[in-house]
Amino acid sequence: MKNYTIALLAGDGIGPEIMHEAVKIFRLIEERNDVTFTLIEADFGAAAYFKCGHPFPDETKAICDEADAIIKGPIGLSHEESKKIPIDMQPERGALLPLRRRYNTFANFRPVSLPKALAHFSPLKPEIIGEGIDLVMVRELVGGLYFGDKEVGVNEKGLRYVKETLEYDEEQICRIMHEALRLSMRRKKVLHNIHKSNVLKSSVLWNEVLEEVAVEYPEVEIKHILVDAAATQLCLNPGQFDVMVMENMFGDILSDQGGGILGSLGLMPSACKGPEKSYYEPSHGSAPDIAGQNIANPYSMIGSVAMMLEDSFGMVEESKNVWTAMQSVFADGYSTPDLSKPGSGVKMIKTAEFGDKVVAALRAMPAVV
Ligand code: NAD
Repeated sequence: MKNYTIALLAGDGIGPEIMHEAVKIFRLIEERNDVTFTLIEADFGAAAYFKCGHPFPDETKAICDEADAIIKGPIGLSHEESKKIPIDMQPERGALLPLRRRYNTFANFRPVSLPKALAHFSPLKPEIIGEGIDLVMVRELVGGLYFGDKEVGVNEKGLRYVKETLEYDEEQICRIMHEALRLSMRRKKVLHNIHKSNVLKSSVLWNEVLEEVAVEYPEVEIKHILVDAAATQLCLNPGQFDVMVMENMFGDILSDQGGGILGSLGLMPSACKGPEKSYYEPSHGSAPDIAGQNIANPYSMIGSVAMMLEDSFGMVEESKNVWTAMQSVFADGYSTPDLSKPGSGVKMIKTAEFGDKVVAALRAMPAVV
């Protein structure tokens, strides 16, 4: 029997609610397979700051260091609430970026997927959706503006100023390109490179390195597209994309747009891969506007479990079963309120009911032997 230790960081806002549903899935996977999961809860984010004085306490670091993988809920507070925390202790700066840096989780995979049968969830017209949406955004996660040196002060004119640095070296670009190209080889062998080389020199180097690395993958067709044009094309013709590779900030923004074209950020799970450890999280934030109401969509969190099963533990078939179980809840006509607006014909259920229905659907499937 295999045992995996998983650090469980529930986070803020809707985090604990959707993590609760993820735990149900871990427990059922144990019942169905020759595996046990030791789930160790740890404080992380704003809640950790208020409880322990730091958003990424040393105890949490130790738990994550020992874990085989990490599952993380969203963190953060509303704009107003954030002001209660000193700027460097705010959840992203004080916890999320340090987590990414600690495990060097440079490759972030964000599937943007909606089968044709669920096209009604999308705000896009059926003729634009065509056969459905199925693409993966590959986002560089530990470089660029978010990690560069920062300077804040008053300049010689007496004006407040800020300076933030966007830095990449060729090795950082090279490794993310290999990830994106390898993924393209497993999919349709078309890679869209998202850049801004008409303005940014970082994009010029980005493109140069891609051309060098792509030589090793001659079967993959590379298509270059400026990030602003890519934003438009995601709305007008998402079917042209299969794998998209982009730097950190572009990926942060475009992947939220990905959630938008699906109809909800609640459909956006992700995997953040480092050389030795990976962590898994929904792409979205803590949704303070709906927290505490048991109405958040747990698909993103359960999907992150499915990604962990496949990527960290090699449980490929069981991971597929989890995706199928989630899709079957939608196919039966149910969803949380983000995707069951009045008049949509979709039956509205709560977060916990969604989780229970996924559990029931998965339980009904033959176990993988
Ligand atoms: P958000 O992603 O939390 O919410 C945007 C909108 O999407 C809201 O209307 C919300 O209700 C909805 N939404 C998000 N997830 C949903 C789900 N699972 N089900 C149903 N609806 C969902 O973005 P925001 O409001 O701009 O940010 C809130 C906080 O989250 C901020 O503090 C921000 O910094 C933080 N944040 C954290 C992460 C992370 O932990 N990785 C990522 C993005 C934002």
